Amino acid sequence: MKKIFAITFLLSVSVCGYAQKVDKLIKEKDVKRIIETLSADDMQGRGTFTPGIEKAALFIEDEFKHIGLQPLEGLSGFRQVVDPKALGPLPTRGNMAEKLTNIPLFNVVGVLPGKSKPDEYVIFSAHYDHLGIVKAMDGDSIANGADDDASGTTAVIALAKYFKETDNNARTLIFVAFTAEEIGGYGARYFSKMVNPDKTVAMFNIEMIGKASKFGENSAFITGFERSDFGPILQKNLEGTDFKFYPDPYPTQNLFYRSDNATLARLGVPAHTISTDQIDIDKLYHTVKDEFGSLDVKNITATIKAIALSSRGIVAGTETPARVAKLER
Ligand SMILES: [Zn+2]
Repeated sequence: MKKIFAITFLLSVSVCGYAQKVDKLIKEKDVKRIIETLSADDMQGRGTFTPGIEKAALFIEDEFKHIGLQPLEGLSGFRQVVDPKALGPLPTRGNMAEKLTNIPLFNVVGVLPGKSKPDEYVIFSAHYDHLGIVKAMDGDSIANGADDDASGTTAVIALAKYFKETDNNARTLIFVAFTAEEIGGYGARYFSKMVNPDKTVAMFNIEMIGKASKFGENSAFITGFERSDFGPILQKNLEGTDFKFYPDPYPTQNLFYRSDNATLARLGVPAHTISTDQIDIDKLYHTVKDEFGSLDVKNITATIKAIALSSRGIVAGTETPARVAKLER
């Protein structure tokens, strides 16, 4: 009994220690600054193929540079330009194929090399594009995409900063801001061809964490929860804290295959999306009203902290989620 008590005590002390570090290093003020910048009107809704997305990319690159991330192996900077030839058959609708061929698209990717297991990758991702300028509503035509997905992109930047400062990641951490999610997931599709899925241990894709979830404050859900033990690992690591991860409460929405985690998940990677969106009743979704003012920055910060805390075993190389079943396509 005594021994068990001692072990439990040590465990809670270590959760406490991590939680304190997370609290110290992930600041609401910083989260607010990043998300407010990404969702500001001057980013023009970050539409793919527009000057607005270029502005967003420059901002993210600047953040990655200040944090001290490295470019992906083989690249000279943080831009990973999408080769349209690698995407397979291009869509026939409108002039999409022509645009994809002639206007450069790129992901923004930064790396923290692993200290002892550099050949095992953990990915933290979100998409930085949104819908751009859309049909005006009450005189506003900028789809700011504050929740979708400036919130997730902010999480990626904040997590990169956190893990750089803690500076003890055994595995290599790859931070990706994907392009062109809203028009077909081209950024993620290209990225998944450039990374070795067999070396990729887990992917934390973060999509729409801007408002409280269906389960209330201090909670989020994980898509494809039943497909690997990624979710249970994260849940276990939050025991003793206020935050809780739940399985996706909207199974009929097929969210697992609707975000940027899907391409790597099809290849067997435990690649899941973390979200708080109440997709069934979210009236702001894909409208010009998805603006900074509608966000709950405190809850976003809590969610980012929960991701940092719950991923610690995966980052440290002591926990490895089971693979998901491969899908041939
Ligand atoms: Zn989105």
